[in-house]
Formats: sequence, structure tokens, C-alpha cells
Amino acid sequence: MRIIDTTANVPSNPGLGGHPLHPDAREDQRKGFDYLIVGAGFAGSVMAERLASEYGQRVLLIDRRAHIAGNAYDEYNAHGILIHRYGPHIFHTNARRVLDYLSRFTAWRPYRHRVLASVDGILVPMPINLSTLNRLYSINLSPQQAEAFLAARAEPIADIRTSEDVVVSKIGRELYEKFFRGYTRKQWGMDPSELDRSVTSRVPVRTTADDGYFNDEFQCMPLEGYTRMFQKMLAHPNIKVMLNTDYSEIRAEVGYRKLIYTGPIDEYFDHCLGKLPYRSLVFRHVTLDQKHFQPRAVVNYPAEQVPFTRITEYKYLTGQQHAKTSITYEYPSDEGDPYYPIPRPANAELFKRYEALAEAHPEVIFAGRLGSYRYYNMDQVVAQALSLVERIAATDGFVRFA
Ligand code: FAD
Ligand code: UDP
Repeated sequence: MRIIDTTANVPSNPGLGGHPLHPDAREDQRKGFDYLIVGAGFAGSVMAERLASEYGQRVLLIDRRAHIAGNAYDEYNAHGILIHRYGPHIFHTNARRVLDYLSRFTAWRPYRHRVLASVDGILVPMPINLSTLNRLYSINLSPQQAEAFLAARAEPIADIRTSEDVVVSKIGRELYEKFFRGYTRKQWGMDPSELDRSVTSRVPVRTTADDGYFNDEFQCMPLEGYTRMFQKMLAHPNIKVMLNTDYSEIRAEVGYRKLIYTGPIDEYFDHCLGKLPYRSLVFRHVTLDQKHFQPRAVVNYPAEQVPFTRITEYKYLTGQQHAKTSITYEYPSDEGDPYYPIPRPANAELFKRYEALAEAHPEVIFAGRLGSYRYYNMDQVVAQALSLVERIAATDGFVRFA
């Protein structure tokens, strides 16, 4: 085990005005750490940064992986192309507060995400929009006509509960089968009728020409990448980062007052109530000796007989100029790292029981996508982390150090 000083080669406390160390935080005054934070993804890193910079707390941040940034980790591959090791991460939010906070650690590249789906042998916009319908059916509808077209196919469903209900009630069974059923069955290993409505509700249906994937007001990519943003976030003298280190390896070795845990909540409790199900992915990264592979950053393959769900080409996301191009195929899997909590009623019930257990352990704070067992996007995790630190500060009577 090795403590890595992430301040190396990174300007100290960037964007925070270089505050001097809080007197209470000087290493020689207290033994051990104030906080042990498990997981150096968005949840753990934002909480570490806030506790250290704002409240002078001394933090040990650990991760069992060999790098910071969690699933948002990006890196230059052997060909010098910036790729996302765990699949495409596109930043989008309506929360000005989250954008402002992250902007302390990065400049942004404007980027509006557009996705195509490969259906019936052609590439059409996804989410379904006016041109998806027109191209798929070789017709020429106006937006009003497209609305009537979908309304005529939509199946009224009184009580919309599942991911199938949501879609079929909006666009009917044929389009549901072309765009949603196969993709969802591959992605989650179960039929949309078994999944909470919230899953397919993430994807809108439009009758306009708008072909953006997200509706959020702010959509952009960190100019120098996510990992660089995390390096800057963690470049504070009160934060020590320890990689390749599982919580189980060091929990008895390090002194700390409080624990923040952003790994899977069921794992923390040794699965004592049973395993919470997660869905995983296998990423196949390929670099091709050609400038471009596909016309957009992401192309979805909803057909069930195609084993992968989507292909991402990173140069569109990052704006990097390069003679070659790097792409990633995503193959859903039950085995492997827990990437997706699976939203369905039985799992929510089991999570509630873990949550009750967590409430009986107020000395541990659970956070993040895995600690909260919620299908959170990055901005939601950042918002949760900022709020949690404010709550901790209020409960513990921290004095803001600025
Ligand atoms: P994580 O990033 O998972 O970090 C948790 C960390 O804890 C991990 O690094 C793990 O190694 C570590 N850990 C766990 N247990 C232990 C332990 N016992 N000891 C030590 N370390 C431990 N969001 C968006 O907003 N836009 C997108 O485009 C987007 N695309 C995505 C694409 C994919 C393929 C995936 C999987 C997710 C995507 N997300 C996207 C979601 C985004 O990845 C998450 O919201 C965010 O990264 C969650 O941050 P986190 O800190 O909660 O968790
Ligand atoms: N989905 C689909 N077809 C698509 C895109 C999405 O059926 O072409 C469904 C699928 O169930 C997916 C969900 O909508 O898991 C949410 O899509 P999103 O793009 O938000 O998934 P993520 O990027 O989180 O994997």
C-alpha cells in the first residue's frame, strides 16, 4: 500500500484562492485522519475536497482500483487518444450549483450529445424524433402529423408501472420493439416489463426535429478530461489518496473519526440481508487506423441478436484531432464490477432494509450511486455529495474555513 500525493505536478488548491491551512488541521496537532473516505469517484472525491478545503478536515481517500475518478476515469491509450475506460461519460445538468462547483477544477468544452440507432439497416436519430419517423417509414410528416402518427399507435395504459408501459403507452408496440425492447433486454438481462418505469423514462420521445440526447440546460465535457479535473479537486494538502487499497485491507490499520462509504452498501454489511443485484458491462476498446468510424459519438444497436448495446467513438466527445480513432463496444453482463443498480420493486425493498441497517450506524455515511443504490448520473452524485457535506457540517458544528 502506498499513499500517493496527488498534489504532485498539480497547482495547490486550484480555483479556491489558495487558502492557508486551517490551524486545527495541522498534521502535528492531531493523530490519524478526521475522515476515511472509501471510493475516489465523484461521491468520494467531492466530499473529500469539500471537507478538506472548506472545513479544514484531514481526509484519507482510498480506492481499490489503481486510479482516481471512479467510473468517470479517462486516460490516453497507447495510441495517444483520450478514451473513457468505463464507457462514455457525458456531463449534463440543470443544476447551476453543480456546474459552478465543478468549474473550479476544469474549463469546459461545449458538447451537445447526439445519438443514432441502427434499426432496420439504417442509422436514425435516437431519441425518436421527427426525422426518425420520416426516415424509418419513408414518409414526410410535419411535427403535428407526427404527433397524430404516434397517438394512433400508442396503447392507452391506465397504470403505468414498468419500462414497457412507459414506452408502449407513448409510441405503441412496433416502435417499442424496434428501439427499446431488445436494447433493454440486453442491457439489463431482463424484459422491460420487469423494470421500473424510471429506466426507459430517461429517454424522451419527440415529434420535433430536436436530435439532442439530453434535455438539460448545461451540456459539456471537461476540457482536459475527467481525470485531470479529479486531480485538481484532490490537490489539497489535507487530502491523502491511497490507491489499490480495499477498505477491508486497512479498516483496522488507520485511525479516523468518521467513515464515508461510496462502495456497494450490501458489501459493506457483508451481504447479511442478501446480495443487491447490479448489472455490469464488458468494454471492448479498439483503435482503428482511420480518421473516423461512425458519424456520431454514439451509435446504439437495439437489435437483440447484436451482442453489444452501443459503440462510442471518443474523438467526437473530446474534440481531439488524431489520424486514428478509438471506439468502445459495450457488452452487458451479470459478472464484473457493479456499474448499474437495477431499478425494480424487489430490489428497492431489499435496499430499504439495508438503509434501515445504515440508520442504525450513524458513524458511517453512505453516498454515491452504489452507496445509495440509485441510478444516478454524475451531476446527481455531485449534488448529493455537496448536500451531505453541508449536513455533516451542520450536525458536527464545523466552522467554515475561508
Ligand atoms: P463510482 O464512480 O463507481 O466510484 C466508486 C468507487 O469506489 C470506485 O472507484 C470503486 O473502485 C470504489 N470502491 C468500491 N468499493 C470499495 C472498497 N471496498 N474499497 C475501496 N474502494 C472501493 N453519468 C452521467 O452523468 N453521464 C453519462 O454519460 C454517464 N455515462 C455512464 C456510462 C456508463 C457505462 C456507466 C457505468 C455510468 C455512466 N454514468 C454517467 C454514471 C456515472 O458513472 C456515475 O453517476 C458516477 O460515476 C458515480 O460516482 P460514484 O462516486 O457514486 O461511484
Ligand atoms: N434504451 C433503449 N434503447 C436505446 C437507448 C436506451 O431501450 O436506444 C433504454 C435502456 O433500457 C436503457 C435506458 O433506456 O438502459 C436508459 O438509457 P440511457 O441512455 O440513459 O442509459 P445509460 O447511458 O445510463 O446506460
